[in-house]
Amino acid sequence: MRGLLILFVVALLPGCQEARSPFPIPAAKATGLILSAPVPPITTSAKLTRSDFEGHVALLKKRLPSKEFSIVIQEPFVVVGDEEEVMVKQRAENTVKWAVDRLKQDFFAQDPEQILEIWLFKDKLSYEKHTQLIFKDKPTTPFGYYSPTHKALIMNIATGGGTLVHEIVHPFIEANFPACPSWLNEGLGSLYEQSGEENGHIRGYTNWRLPGLQEAIKADTVPSFKALTGTSPNAFYNDGRGTNYAQARYLCYYLQQKGLLVKFYKEFYANQKTDPTGYTTLQKVLGETDMDQFKKRWEKFVLDLRQGYEVTVE
Ligand SMILES: [Zn+2]
Repeated sequence: MRGLLILFVVALLPGCQEARSPFPIPAAKATGLILSAPVPPITTSAKLTRSDFEGHVALLKKRLPSKEFSIVIQEPFVVVGDEEEVMVKQRAENTVKWAVDRLKQDFFAQDPEQILEIWLFKDKLSYEKHTQLIFKDKPTTPFGYYSPTHKALIMNIATGGGTLVHEIVHPFIEANFPACPSWLNEGLGSLYEQSGEENGHIRGYTNWRLPGLQEAIKADTVPSFKALTGTSPNAFYNDGRGTNYAQARYLCYYLQQKGLLVKFYKEFYANQKTDPTGYTTLQKVLGETDMDQFKKRWEKFVLDLRQGYEVTVE
C-alpha cells in the first residue's frame, strides 16, 4: 500500500439520507444522548470482549430468517448477509474492516459501546422483504440506513459499499463525539461514501452529490456557512433546498484537499463546549476572517470540480 494512490473505490452509488429513513433523527437521538440530562462518564470497564461477540452470534443465529445467512465477526461489528458466505467475508474484510481501521486511524479512538449488527441483504427483493420481516421497517431509501433503535446498519448491498461506509461513520461519531452537529456527522459520512486509500489513509472523492451543488451555487441558493453549521438536526434533515448534505460534504472535501480535515475535527472536538456548531473553529482552522469571501472562493473551488476521483494531494 506504500505510496500508492487509489487502491480501490468503495462505491459508485448514493448513500443514505436519514431524513428519509424510517427513523428520522431528532436532536437527542441524533447524538445518542438525552441532551438535557447529565451525561454519565463512559465506563471503559464495559469494553467488549471476544466472548461477548461470540455470545451475540449464538443469539443472532436463532434469529436468522433462513439458512442462506452467514455471520462474520468483524469487531466492533457483527456482519450478517445472505450472499455467498465467501462474499460476506470479503465485505467484512474489504469494506467494513478497511473503513473502520482507516477511520479510527484518523478520527476515532473509541469503538461503539454496544455490539452493532451490519445486515447486508443481497438485493432489492431481500432488502425489502427482510427489513419488514426482521425489523418491521419500511425503508424509504433503496440503499441502506443506520437504525440506532435496532442497533443495526441495514443495507441493500447490491447498490454498492458506499452507503455502508457512510453509515459506519455514524455509530463512531456517536461513540466519540456525541455532541457532533448533524452537518459534520453527515458531511463526514457522505464524504466517505465515495472513497479510496492514499498513503494508507482514507480519502473521499468527488461524487454524485456534486452536480446538484454546482447548480445550487450557480442559482445562488446555497446558505452561508454560519447558517449551515448553525442548523439544528431537524433543520438539517428537513432541508427544503436539498443542499445541506452536499454543502457539508464539499466543505469537508475542501478541508481534506487543503490538508485540514483531521485538524479541524480534532480542534472542533476539543473546543465543542465553547463552539458547539464548529463555526468559530472552522474560521480559525481556515485562517479566515471574512467568511463571505471564503464562501465565494469555496464556490469557485466546487464549480471547478469534476465528478470522478480526485487524486491531487495538496
Ligand atoms: Zn448519514
